[in-house]
Amino acid sequence: MPRRRLRSPTYADVTPYEPPFRFMVRSRSGPGKHLVDIADFDGNGACGCTDFQVNLAPLLHRGLSAQDAFAADLADLRDYHIFEEDCLRCWHICQARGFSLALAIEKELSTQKKNPAAARKPAPRA
Ligand SMILES: [Zn+2]
Repeated sequence: MPRRRLRSPTYADVTPYEPPFRFMVRSRSGPGKHLVDIADFDGNGACGCTDFQVNLAPLLHRGLSAQDAFAADLADLRDYHIFEEDCLRCWHICQARGFSLALAIEKELSTQKKNPAAARKPAPRA
């Protein structure tokens, strides 16, 4: 099975705007950027792009969860989605969430390097 290449493994399209939840994410279709708030809609996230505003936000405003929307065939998985829970997230929200997680991991590892006594134990290897 061919492996799918990551579009933005370094999250170069994401810029912190109002941390920890707001980011600017470069548009894939034009020169602009979109404001993303990954905490909006109870953690689903919200974006200013047309895809989110036209296709996804109306489902969230109706109170549908991603699981409900997916089960009712109202939202599909896209090539950048990993889980069904992502189906009400546009590409920009997914990028911002990935960037946020990468930052959190990097910050925690940095903290642990400064305090080795609090560092995690290595996972057992088979
Ligand atoms: Zn978007």
